[in-house]
Amino acid sequence: MMDNRSKYFVFVPFCLLAQAYQAKGIVRYEWKSSIKPFVELLIKNDINIIQIPCIESTYLGLNREPMGLSKYNTVEFNQHCDKLSNQIAEEIENLSNNNYKVLAILGIEQSPSCCVNYIYTNKGMEKRSGLFMEKLQVKIKDKNIPFIGINRKYINKSLKELEKIINDVKNH
Ligand code: SF4
Repeated sequence: MMDNRSKYFVFVPFCLLAQAYQAKGIVRYEWKSSIKPFVELLIKNDINIIQIPCIESTYLGLNREPMGLSKYNTVEFNQHCDKLSNQIAEEIENLSNNNYKVLAILGIEQSPSCCVNYIYTNKGMEKRSGLFMEKLQVKIKDKNIPFIGINRKYINKSLKELEKIINDVKNH
């Protein structure tokens, strides 16, 4: 019997599908639940979606106040990020050993855990990845999987980036 499954995967931050997992008071943009254009793009192209556990709510719970990078940057929280990034790195290894292809890993800009390119801190804008993402990037460096940071206010750039990656593999 023919097996019709898609072999492509994208890893997404948990809150891409559930904005209610964000800290209190910061769901300010158009997206009340999922950030629809990304989810629609992935579904339309039959990409398997893996939700990365929400780093901050698995540490501090759902009803947490927003906190900056310096407050999260503790030994305990970094250990938590390390443990979760090991799990995700193992999952990615497992997928590639089984002939699946991970096309991209999405992050959320400004998140102390999940940003990819930048975050505002009390020192102004810092160009860096979040505490979880930086660990994951090191662990899967040899896989050459692109990380795409989503700015929830202006999603177009990251959406186009993802679209291009999908189109490139589909037209290959
Ligand atoms: S920690 Fe990551 S998954 Fe959780 S709300 Fe923040 S950006 Fe989303």
